[in-house]
Amino acid sequence: MPYMVQINQIKQLVESASKIVITSHKSPDGDSIGSSVALYLTLKALGKEVVICHPDPFPNYLAWVPNVNDIVDFETKENEVRQHLNDADLIFSLDYNEPSRLGESMGEVLRSATGKKVMIDHHLNPENYVNVMLSDTTSCSTCQLVYDVIEGANWIEHLSPEIGTAIYLGIMTDSGSFRFPSVQPRSHEIISRILPLGFNHAIIHENINDTNTLDRLRLKGYACSDKLVVDEKMRIAYIWLTLDELHSFNHQKGDTEGLVNTALSIFGMRVAVLFVEAEGGFVKISFRSKGKENPVNEMAGKYFQGGGHANASGGRFDGKIEDAIQLFLKVAPDYFIN
Ligand code: 5GP
Ligand code: MN
Repeated sequence: MPYMVQINQIKQLVESASKIVITSHKSPDGDSIGSSVALYLTLKALGKEVVICHPDPFPNYLAWVPNVNDIVDFETKENEVRQHLNDADLIFSLDYNEPSRLGESMGEVLRSATGKKVMIDHHLNPENYVNVMLSDTTSCSTCQLVYDVIEGANWIEHLSPEIGTAIYLGIMTDSGSFRFPSVQPRSHEIISRILPLGFNHAIIHENINDTNTLDRLRLKGYACSDKLVVDEKMRIAYIWLTLDELHSFNHQKGDTEGLVNTALSIFGMRVAVLFVEAEGGFVKISFRSKGKENPVNEMAGKYFQGGGHANASGGRFDGKIEDAIQLFLKVAPDYFIN
């Protein structure tokens, strides 16, 4: 088992902690929710006082995940989250690599909190603000690393169908249902260990991949038919959606999830981008690409205050959506023409 040094340190910190807080990044996804719930239930089974504090509420499409309603979020319960973070003697950072991924305010609360800090993550360039860093950028998901911790710390007797569900969810969603290059033999090995816990994996796939609201499906149809632009020369496809358009489809959090991958699926494309207006006068941007020769994270970092993986990054633009698109089209030739 790799990272045994860090796992033993984590085990010691957990054993001596009396109040533990688990945090994860803004705009929660299957891996951030899955890793949080899996670690939360494990620590509870160990008899620990533990709470999950996230920056914002979980999206409706993850409402079926065990114990998601136990999550306290900063957006709706700021004071409670501040209190938990200030009182904690151990704080986990799951599935993110720097405090700013919690949003500015919650990131500051984390930085100034005095408890010991542990990072378990798979994103590039982790910032070292923690006491123990378990960072593996080759791992397909944080859930895979959380399973490694549970196994390495000898906590497997505490595994349950609920913990299995949470780990399966994170590995499955971050690996695009086991199909991205990031999938390792270890990913499948973990799946083979958790399936016997006795949960229904087929329902997890159905909930994630085969469930839509009518509004979401129509939004997707509209985005692809009216708001998808293809640059054949640069082999770039992008979709842009304004707040008015989102409202007209009764937009719910998570409704645009996967849209950027749909744009990338057009034959011949090597880069896809999704620009979505957000409340508060900024634009949320998702970048996806194919192949090692087309990394998107560098551009996301340099021009869009973001970053991420080589083929899946995100960022933001403070200003009008048209200007975000203009900037992207201006700088894209520096990165993607050859
Ligand atoms: P998404 O497009 O799904 O929002 O994000 C894709 C990936 O990009 C995430 O898994 C994360 O690694 C990265 N990412 C998204 N937004 C940001 C951001 O604001 N900052 C950084 N550093 N990474 C981001
Ligand atoms: Mn992840």
